[in-house]
Amino acid sequence: MDTPIVNSLEAFWMGFTNNRAFKADPRMFVRAKGMHYFTPDGRAVLDATSGLWCVNAGHGRDKIVAAIARQAAELDYAPAFNLGHPLAFELASRLREVLPPGLDHVFFCNSGSEAVDSALKIALAYQRAAGQGARTRFIGRERGYHGVGFGGISVGGMVANRRTFGALLPGVDHMRHTHGAAAPFTRGQGETGAELADDLERLVGLHGAETIAAVIVEPVAGSTGVLVPPKGYLERLREIATRHGILLIFDEVITGFGRLGAGTAAEYFGVTPDLMCLAKGITNAAVPMGAVAADARIYDAVVNGAPAGIELFHGYTYSGHPLAAAAGLAALEVYAEEGLFARAASLAPYWEDAVHSLKGVKHVVDVRNLGLVGAVELAPREGAPGARAAEVFARCFDAGVLTRYTGETIALSPPLIIEKSQIDEAVGVLGAAIAEVA
Ligand code: PLP
Repeated sequence: MDTPIVNSLEAFWMGFTNNRAFKADPRMFVRAKGMHYFTPDGRAVLDATSGLWCVNAGHGRDKIVAAIARQAAELDYAPAFNLGHPLAFELASRLREVLPPGLDHVFFCNSGSEAVDSALKIALAYQRAAGQGARTRFIGRERGYHGVGFGGISVGGMVANRRTFGALLPGVDHMRHTHGAAAPFTRGQGETGAELADDLERLVGLHGAETIAAVIVEPVAGSTGVLVPPKGYLERLREIATRHGILLIFDEVITGFGRLGAGTAAEYFGVTPDLMCLAKGITNAAVPMGAVAADARIYDAVVNGAPAGIELFHGYTYSGHPLAAAAGLAALEVYAEEGLFARAASLAPYWEDAVHSLKGVKHVVDVRNLGLVGAVELAPREGAPGARAAEVFARCFDAGVLTRYTGETIALSPPLIIEKSQIDEAVGVLGAAIAEVA
């Protein structure tokens, strides 16, 4: 295969990247198939992160590729406002096969960040339509990641994502995160910490329920280092939110489409939110797409309760884009035909044993897991936080395994098609890399 000529690294200002370091020593992929990426010099790299938690069915799936190609030739684009095309309606209907009962209406956008900001706006629109217009406040959680829109960074709890950008949404407050509620090396969900959900009750006491529109959490926080909710926590949050008329939003951008061994985290935990943010695996990442799934009560209040005319002043040029809709439908077929969500569930115990085998390796201070998600936390190097994890990532990459690091945590979230031998390979390479670094 020809190696592409990369002639201006400076022109592309990369997001969430150390641009100077990358451009001094770029790492590129030029091809991907199944469980592997390929570098310009033809080296295979095992994808232990599903790209960025998004390629859940593995790379280059023929059915999805063909669907996109067919759709591009048939109908490249149709205006998204006051006009439609059949595939967007079909995808919205078919998503019900994956979504919890009740979340019957799907609003399309193009990314997880847009899904979060859309969900927040829909929550405000609902409260207003329900005669609760004073409910304008949002509650998020420390160490939450909800993308990069102003809404998302306001309700999110990652300090670095907020520090530079002064104008956040007013009136937002945060619950405490759940990290540390369980002892290190807890397998799956911890037994302790459900009472941290009472923070919502405390904030109701502080601000008044009548001012709060919605609370938003990731069922399992991913980007801040894989934080697994304590047993009973999400159930308790649901109960408190319901009792106070506060909408519960689950940001399932990474947990949707099989990551935990069920269609959604809501299904996995048996806790149904009022609004759900989706993206990433919705198209197996082949075309950008995001979505908000809304409870019928919300749709009815906003849409059927409105006077004539446009009911919700919100939407994107590419909402339900034909190529994304085609990719989404094909991805749903691949997930269903291959039983990939059930496959993830059946692999989860093997996965758990594999990642927890790293307990005892030098520097490892915690291992966390749920479904096909794993996290290995390292002790920080004196005076250089994050450096050790960055070095481990680089060593794994050189040894042919793609991992991801955030702070001191190495996160793994492989495609659901991974084989047991590849789990062994990924964890083996990771363990060796950790043992080698100073
Ligand atoms: N929400 C969660 C939970 C995420 O993990 C992410 C991305 O990782 C986002 C939102 C943002 O998605 P996007 O990068 O597609 O805007």
